[in-house]
Amino acid sequence: MDIAILGAGAMGSLFGGLLAQAGEHVTLLDINDAHLDAIGTQGLQLETDHGERRIRNLQAMRPGAATRRPDLLIVFTKAMHTRAALASARHLIGPSTHVLTLQNGLGNVEALVPVVPRERIFVGVTTWPADLTGPGRVRSHGAGAIRMMTADGAQSPALARAVHALTNAGLNCHADENVWGAVWEKVAFNAALNPLCTVLNRPVDALGAVEDGPALALAIANEVLAVARATGIPVDAAKVGDNVRHAIVAHCGHKPSMLQDVLAGRPTEIESINGAVVATARRHGVPVPHTETLMQLVRLLQAQGLSPGAP
Ligand code: NAD
Repeated sequence: MDIAILGAGAMGSLFGGLLAQAGEHVTLLDINDAHLDAIGTQGLQLETDHGERRIRNLQAMRPGAATRRPDLLIVFTKAMHTRAALASARHLIGPSTHVLTLQNGLGNVEALVPVVPRERIFVGVTTWPADLTGPGRVRSHGAGAIRMMTADGAQSPALARAVHALTNAGLNCHADENVWGAVWEKVAFNAALNPLCTVLNRPVDALGAVEDGPALALAIANEVLAVARATGIPVDAAKVGDNVRHAIVAHCGHKPSMLQDVLAGRPTEIESINGAVVATARRHGVPVPHTETLMQLVRLLQAQGLSPGAP
């Protein structure tokens, strides 16, 4: 397949590197010139459980410099950058281009709809982790999976081709008719852990210091799941609860990207995670007091460019 990745940071580079390694024609599109230059001169350095290697059979450039219309465009910017990125890549979306979003949060399909019809949008979630460790260098350890579906809910040969390409690259991808359940379950997990760690300026395992930490995280996750149910989406509260408790015990030292963004003075995905949940909750009359308070606290930190804990 001819695949372009719009937003080739941690996740985009991991996916692009693995897809290129599996023999797909991959173009990475980003605006981080140091990253693009490093890939252009030395290839992409990829570190996974399968070891370290340099991937050289891919191209990396700014979106405006690309001319080839891909079969599949994977959007992997942070959610708040989707619209600007798409505006610069609009010329690459041809009549047979499909666009995939595996970004966290809600509203990712709505951000794509102005430039590509719903039947050519794939939406899903991924549990693969990735970190950019320097220009041209990406690291991912542990196992993950992808669950995705066409945004209009229909199976199609193009969906099957995309699922096959991702699985063939080692990314363990499945078509899933309850993809919206998977999206909301991940939003519940992220809405609980990301802002809590951000406000506390602590890694995920710090939430286990006293029983109030897991209790608060679970209260937030359950608020989010109640909103999902109010919109008619089936979700598995026991599974989300297990995932939240597991992360607090196992994700030792892990700082969610929302915390990393606040510490670096960058905007966060709070609006597409807690913000979008609060907006949906209001429309459906569902109380979400913990989710809303966390949203307000992160907005305050973000608006003032404050590091949590700064004087
Ligand atoms: P990242 O910040 O590492 O990468 C985003 C990239 O988008 C950056 O390289 C940035 O330069 C680029 N970008 C920003 N504006 C752009 C524009 N206008 N045009 C082109 N490129 C632009 O973020 P990430 O960690 O890779 O996360 C991407 C998405 O995946 C987020 O929604 C995140 O929540 C989700 N996610 C991340 C992980 C993870 O472990 N990192 C896991 C699952 C899901």
